Amino acid sequence: MNGTLDTLIKGGLVVNAEGFLRADVGIRQERIVEVSVEIDDSRASKVIDATGKYIMPGVIDPHSHPVYVDDIGDMSITAAFGGVTSQIHFAYVKPDMQVLPVLEEFRNDGEKKSVGDFALHLGLFDVEHQITDLEKAFQYGVTSFKVFMTYAKLQWMTDDYWLTAVMDVAAKNKGLTMVHAENGLATDYIEDKLIREGRVSPDTFTMMRPDILEAEATNRAISLARVMGSALYVVHNSAGANVELFDRVRQEGWPIIGETCPQYLTLTEEVTKKKKALAKIGPPLRTEKDNEMLWDGIARGVLHTIGSDSAAKAKSIDDDFFDAPYGSPQVETMLRMIHHRGVNSGKLSMPRLVEIMSTNVAKVFGLYPQKGVIQSGSDADIVIFDPAKREIISAAEQHSNAGYTLYEGTEILGAPILTMVRGEVVVDGKELVGKPGRAKFLETDTSGVYEGLF
Ligand SMILES: [Zn+2]
Repeated sequence: MNGTLDTLIKGGLVVNAEGFLRADVGIRQERIVEVSVEIDDSRASKVIDATGKYIMPGVIDPHSHPVYVDDIGDMSITAAFGGVTSQIHFAYVKPDMQVLPVLEEFRNDGEKKSVGDFALHLGLFDVEHQITDLEKAFQYGVTSFKVFMTYAKLQWMTDDYWLTAVMDVAAKNKGLTMVHAENGLATDYIEDKLIREGRVSPDTFTMMRPDILEAEATNRAISLARVMGSALYVVHNSAGANVELFDRVRQEGWPIIGETCPQYLTLTEEVTKKKKALAKIGPPLRTEKDNEMLWDGIARGVLHTIGSDSAAKAKSIDDDFFDAPYGSPQVETMLRMIHHRGVNSGKLSMPRLVEIMSTNVAKVFGLYPQKGVIQSGSDADIVIFDPAKREIISAAEQHSNAGYTLYEGTEILGAPILTMVRGEVVVDGKELVGKPGRAKFLETDTSGVYEGLF
């Protein structure tokens, strides 16, 4: 092959979902144009040495909330430092809000402020009044719709009637119904009872939102999705019991996508007890057994994706636990933690990490092979990852405005050292090089899920 290259990444080990490849990577403008064993330096304006490093497709985070202390620009920066090149944000349409203006605002904001590419999911809070606009969202390039089966008291919950209605529209248009699956009324009852007994605390938080009620809601969502013919995406699985459900449904050949998050793979309720309000997240952190069952689900391909569920909020450890909001910053640490706890411990191969953190997400949302793979013709969304880099995780080194991390003081081996979005370096070591204004809004297409992706 001939032709000049803008950038050549030399000497690294390319990691795709299919496996490793010792190859150099040539980039022209925004794309990868060549992947071969030896590409001559003289052809490139700029050469990046990746000897001893992995060259992997950028992580695609399918789950983020850039509406709290990290806006869409801040979120993209903390993400880029974590090796994330594209994010799918939840555009929440609260009651009295309209679907299309919300999407418009998110898109404009992202195009203006983000340093990485992005797509959008809708998050519906008032399905009864918002459902008529769902078809318009498809034309807008937004094909996934999340509802909460929980948070009834907060009035965020969608009941089974309207969940079924969303599934009906999704099925007709090959969209994806997404659920936060926890039984909202039962968890509210338990919470109210604990309040009456004066027992709401970090110690009782996991008890308030038990794994069985997560599995119950997940099973219910699966049942409704099958009746309505809708593909289903279950966000942030935290209960090990859910893996059994996914096993069963997979055997029966129904399109269900399961996501989990680094926090549910690596942390337990002991962290809730120690970090209190900072570790208040929904669903809650559970047990080591749940961690292990989720790792097993990931390793066996029963769960398909990992999302950060990053929702950085202003909290401090001694805030009133009951009043503290749900959420934690995760996106900057997610690749590091999944690599360290998954790959370094032998739970996961590096190609499998790439598959669940990049390739599968691209496939589910119709972004593949533009994203999610290092091959000729794909966007040059590339992370150079140093498996021998030692770091001690600390909020002081991070770029979220949350000001804390649940992994403070954790020693890890392996970290991203360069992040490139469509041919331009965004993060180089500790330095932010990328500027906002280049981000592309990505239209999703979830029809592949109906055609037996997994
Ligand atoms: Zn979330």
